[in-house]
Order: sequence, then C-alpha cells, then structure tokens
Amino acid sequence: MNSREIIIDPKIRSILKKAEDSEEISPQEGLVLLKVTGKEFFALQQTADRLCFEKKENVVTFVINRNINFTNICYQGCKFCSFSVHNKHEDGYLLTIEQVRNKTEQAKDVGCTEVCIQGGINPNLDIDYYLNILKTVKQVDSKIHTHAFSPQEVYSMSNLYQTSIEETLKELKSAGLDSMPGTAAEILVDKIRHIICPNKITSSQWIEIIKQAHILGIPTTSTIMYGHIEELKDRISHLEIIRELQRETGGFTEFVPLPFVRENPALSKLPEFPLRPSYGMADLKLFCVARLFFNNYIDNIQCSWVKLGPKFAQVSLNYGVNDFSGTLMEENISKSAGAEFGEYLKPQEIINIIKDAAKKPAQRDTLYKILKYF
Ligand code: SF4
Repeated sequence: MNSREIIIDPKIRSILKKAEDSEEISPQEGLVLLKVTGKEFFALQQTADRLCFEKKENVVTFVINRNINFTNICYQGCKFCSFSVHNKHEDGYLLTIEQVRNKTEQAKDVGCTEVCIQGGINPNLDIDYYLNILKTVKQVDSKIHTHAFSPQEVYSMSNLYQTSIEETLKELKSAGLDSMPGTAAEILVDKIRHIICPNKITSSQWIEIIKQAHILGIPTTSTIMYGHIEELKDRISHLEIIRELQRETGGFTEFVPLPFVRENPALSKLPEFPLRPSYGMADLKLFCVARLFFNNYIDNIQCSWVKLGPKFAQVSLNYGVNDFSGTLMEENISKSAGAEFGEYLKPQEIINIIKDAAKKPAQRDTLYKILKYF
C-alpha cells in the first residue's frame, strides 16, 4: 500500500466499490452515504465525479428556455410556497392567451428551444384554457418544445374535464404537450406531505400520473424538494420510488434536487414542525448519492442554479451533476420564496461558469440531444 493512501471506513469503501462496478446500491447503503463526513465524504465525491465523468465525458449541458407561469392564483395552500395568492389578492394574475403568445414569441426571438409552463391551481380555469396554451405555443413555432404542467395540474385538469388521467393526458398530448416537469413530487412520503402540502395529490397519485404519462410517451423530469422537515431516510425513500419507476417505465429524463428556499414560506415559521438544519455539505452529499443511486437508471443529474445560486451550482459540477438546467428567463417561483438569484442567466454566462469548472459546455434540447458544443 502506498504510505500516502488515505484509509477510509471499509464499509464505505465497499459501497463505493459496488457503485464503481455498476452494481446497484441499496436504499440502506444510500442512507449510509448521506451521513458520511471527513475523508469518507471526499471518497464519495471522487466516486460520484468519476462516474459522472465516465458517463458524460466531462460534458455539462444546459438548455435555452423560458418559464411561463400563467397564473399565481392557487388555493392549494402548500406551506413551502410563497408564489401563490388568492383570487382577490392585489398581486393575483392570470395571463391571457395573447400574453402567452407574446411570451412565446419573445422566447423564440432569443433562441429558446423550450418553454416551461406551470402555474397555480386556479379554480377559475377550464380545460380549454390549458389546451389553448399548448396550441398557442405550437402556433408560434411548432419546433418549440412544450415542457408543461405538473402532475398536480394534470390531476386538477382531469377533475375539471371530468375524465380519467389517461384521457386528460391524451388530450394534452394532442394539443402539443411534449414533456412534463416532475414537480409536485416534493417528498414522496405521505406523512411529510400531510404537513407541507396537505391538499396536494398523494405519493401514489403522483406515481400513477407519472406512470401514465410515461406509458403514453410523455417523458418527465423527476425532482425532490429537500432540506425542510424531512429526515435523511425520507430522502432515500423518495429516491427509491423514483428508481423503481424508472426501472419500470424508463420515462425520466433527469433528476433535479431542489433545496427548500427558507426565506419566506410559512413552513419556515411553524413552531410545531421546526426545520432541520440543512447546509451545503448536505446538498453535495445528496447530489453524489443521486449519481450513485441512479447509476444505470437516470443519466442526468441537474443542479438548480436559481435555488443554489450560480456559485454553488458551479461547485456541484464536481459532485456528480452534469446539467446546469436552463437560462430560465422569468423565474418567479423561487424568487417569491426568497431565493436571491436572478431570473435569467445568459447562455454565455452559463458557458463561462461551466468552462471555469473545467468542464465542456454544450447546449442541449429538453430531451438531452446535444445541439452545440462550445
Ligand atoms: S406549490 Fe403550486 S400547488 Fe402549492 S400552493 Fe404553490 S402554486 Fe399552489
């Protein structure tokens, strides 16, 4: 043995070796890794970085996209949300279809390949409004990818439409839906959901909607919102659900860890459910564990620069992350929750950040086809 070789806990070494040998790590092993510190933490980082390097050949991608948050009126009352307001609130808004058209035209003018469309669960909408949004985007440019509507929105539409999830998804697809954000997942552990988003769909409803979308050929992202009242074992249960779904359908394009933004939401002020401490090391461990846990299942781990900030997002590129998300013109949701980072990063800024991390930048489309290397 080299006298300078760093000795780490053999149990951790053997879990990391399994991942390096492309063996699946178990939820229990994932939980062990979420708790490592010191030299074991650096060994985890090296394994995640190596696996990411081998899989993605040191390329870090991004997409040129814009958000269209068509309404902030919502009655779901999720306790982590500062974006939504009630109908009569002076800040409440609902975009007209003409406004959606204008925003899509602006997106086209700045070279967006994707519009990401989400909004509150506004009881005043009917299904035609949602369908018209999709049709309008395609009228502006049939090549723009419509990444739209969370499983919660699809659930609400199926109630409005008085039809099954399957029929609703088929209708959306024929109106122009290309893929869906896997948001509204938060943490797929019902005892936590009952506290943080009691009126939202349950874990099993989320799973069923996603599964149905995948069956119909509508790919989705997968997300986790972490760093609030959940325990580490809840994070792993969530990862396990995502991995099992991916094993079954193969319909996830990426996994996006979304740290809870603490500044404004009601959840930060509930004395009966105090937030657990959550600092940067916990974020980095989750990125690494996601890379190992999803090895051979989900190739793309994305950082959210809006929530992490561009500096920390850059750091994450050495911790198993291979995608810098999008330019995100007009990001409203994290900003409302108190995230200080802007609503738009120019492509050139993202390219500079990626190059500065000694990675190769590449523009991709929503489904991870590389469009251009820089
Ligand atoms: S997270 Fe979504 S569903 Fe929940 S309150 Fe906010 S806008 Fe409504």
